[in-house]
Amino acid sequence: MRNTPIMHCSASSIEYKTDAASRWKPVAPPLSPHGPSRFTSLPDAARGLWRRGCGLLLVACLILGTAGRTRAEDVSTWIENQMDSIAGLYLHLHRHPELSLHEKETSARIAKELRDAGFEVTTPFGGYGVVGLIRNGDGPKLMLRCDLDGLPVKEETGMEYASTVTTSLNGVPTGVMHACGHDIHMTTVVNTARYLASHQDLWRGTLMVIGQPAEEGGRGAKAMLEDGLFEKFPKPDYALAMHVTPEISCGVLGYCPGPAMANVDSIDITMKGRGGHGSAPHTTIDPIMQAAELVVSLQTIVSREIDPSSTAVVTVGSIHGGAQHNVIGNECHLQLTVRSYTDEVRDQLLAAIQRKAKAVAQGARAPEPDIQIRQNTPVLINNEELTARVAEVFRGTFGEARVVRIPPRMGGEDFSRYGRAGVPIFMFRLGVVSQHRMDRYAAAGQQPPSLHSSQFRPDFEEALPVGIEAMTIAALDLLKPQK
Ligand code: ZN
Ligand code: ZN
Repeated sequence: MRNTPIMHCSASSIEYKTDAASRWKPVAPPLSPHGPSRFTSLPDAARGLWRRGCGLLLVACLILGTAGRTRAEDVSTWIENQMDSIAGLYLHLHRHPELSLHEKETSARIAKELRDAGFEVTTPFGGYGVVGLIRNGDGPKLMLRCDLDGLPVKEETGMEYASTVTTSLNGVPTGVMHACGHDIHMTTVVNTARYLASHQDLWRGTLMVIGQPAEEGGRGAKAMLEDGLFEKFPKPDYALAMHVTPEISCGVLGYCPGPAMANVDSIDITMKGRGGHGSAPHTTIDPIMQAAELVVSLQTIVSREIDPSSTAVVTVGSIHGGAQHNVIGNECHLQLTVRSYTDEVRDQLLAAIQRKAKAVAQGARAPEPDIQIRQNTPVLINNEELTARVAEVFRGTFGEARVVRIPPRMGGEDFSRYGRAGVPIFMFRLGVVSQHRMDRYAAAGQQPPSLHSSQFRPDFEEALPVGIEAMTIAALDLLKPQK
């Protein structure tokens, strides 16, 4: 993974530190932090005051009249007024996470939210997927996507609203947690959908909102596409999604034109041998020795075969063979994750892995290894034109300093598949750790807990209004009525 000491943001010419403590954090000027949680940390009296403040703001807006009101002000006022319901939905989803392919209740809740907002809803679709549609005259077709699933992680944030859900995964008990922030994504997309449904005078076209199951593991987008998402429903002209990140602070939005997330392939290799007594290795063909040789050999692919200016990763994440000290087994299993940004590099990596595995086996007089390759997600390529257009809309509302260009990541996201299906896509990043907490981590020489960590904790009251506003103004721009 890259770690450039200083990144120059071409869009805003602001320097962003990429040191260990605060990657992508603006050197200046950070947002004024809202401070601690409005909904979970303040006493009731303070919460009441905050809400009355929102009410007063609404009245002030009404008194000022609509003539000079900008669309962005309208959206942010609406969000402030809806904050109880927005936080309520987030907390409900956060407390009730479900694993990939098991998102039954989550899917039902998203479907209900969309139906209540006036969408025509189809579910189940592609597993527990949800498709909501509003046709509002002639105009572009826009898809907004959120993902429904949580992870087999026991939450350890210590928050009073922490998930206590437990389940069994392959017979092993596990906690379940929205450790990738998909609860933030759902809350953002549902509330963007509610705003757009209740302000149809502001836009024209077709709005399709999808709740996609099974993002983790990369099966959900594929399932929805295979079930005919773009045949049974209008194929969109654009698709937007958002993903949270603890690497930028609340109030800041990140974008990365072009390849933004990696091709992800999972490979299972079984090195085969001939078992026997550990004291008589000459009578055997040792699969563990082959595996050990292969692990080292694989590390020369990126270092010796791939162009140094390309990015690639080959990681052996699991190796299992044998049962006890004095027995040489018949097989040894390896599991690899392989990452790249282009089809050419991907093909090169996969060919080299197969070649090396076979070569090791041949060198050991062993049978050919068994090699299974599974593509989890293809590279996520943000359409350059769409990215530039939406980033400009963001800058117009949030200001240059809050819209930052970020480097590509080697993680995977199956939102990429809608792009592969021919739709211009853009996934932006939403900062979810308050400046206040960022500063505390930085002072301690630490980084905030990453996605998939049991301690990952978005500051949702601060992050959600920004996410909803960003998604909404992007949608309003893309669905702008033609004069
Ligand atoms: Zn994830
Ligand atoms: Zn995710």
